[in-house]
Amino acid sequence: MSGALVVAWLRLAASRVAAERAHLTDLDAAIGDGDHGINLDRGFAALQARLAALDAPTQAAGPLLALAGRTITGTVGGASGALYGRALLRAAAALDASPADAGPPVVRVAAALRAAVDGIASLGRSRPGEKTMLDALVPAVDALEAAATAGADLPDALRHAADAAEAGARATRPLLATKGRASYLGERSVGHLDPGAVSSTLILGALADAAAGGA
Ligand code: ADP
Ligand code: MG
Repeated sequence: MSGALVVAWLRLAASRVAAERAHLTDLDAAIGDGDHGINLDRGFAALQARLAALDAPTQAAGPLLALAGRTITGTVGGASGALYGRALLRAAAALDASPADAGPPVVRVAAALRAAVDGIASLGRSRPGEKTMLDALVPAVDALEAAATAGADLPDALRHAADAAEAGARATRPLLATKGRASYLGERSVGHLDPGAVSSTLILGALADAAAGGA
């Protein structure tokens, strides 16, 4: 994964989060406290500003992801800020630990995203089926690994991952929330999409599109 791809991804994600801010906030108003879009947009806007201030194309992917993790942790707030921040820091550490010749890019990215998702699960003490962002992210990483094993290149594998995230997010609607604020609603959480699963899909979709764009 190149530094240029990380920058293209995070910029695209920031503009999509800004465009979807009201939608994400409405989703969170239904089963949470109505701040998810506001939280994420604040953090991604801060990240955009920090990326713009860098000589970004000369930076490696690992340090850029670490910068993103620190920025998101420090500016998003809420459960999702801590969880997305942890995920980005884990991805950064995984990339830093694997030499560039450790395998094809798709294999290194799959390992980094697996580390990210494991970081969310351990911080959140959560797993798929609980109506959280993991219901989008875990199927996405499973699909990414399967595509990598089957020999797909990075853009193709990320497209499969983004599609799996979208299906996973859609499948949160009938679920009963057992983690996070939505769990306070019990049965009343059923029948709504999980806001974090929807934002995860948006962020992974931006990664797939940035990779398809050749960054
Ligand atoms: P808060 O709930 O603190 O207001 P946000 O509204 O920004 O934070 O984010 C809510 C999202 O965070 C949820 O939709 C869910 O996807 C995710 N989330 C909350 N708790 C957990 C957890 N323990 N594990 C994984 N994801 C979680
Ligand atoms: Mg909230």
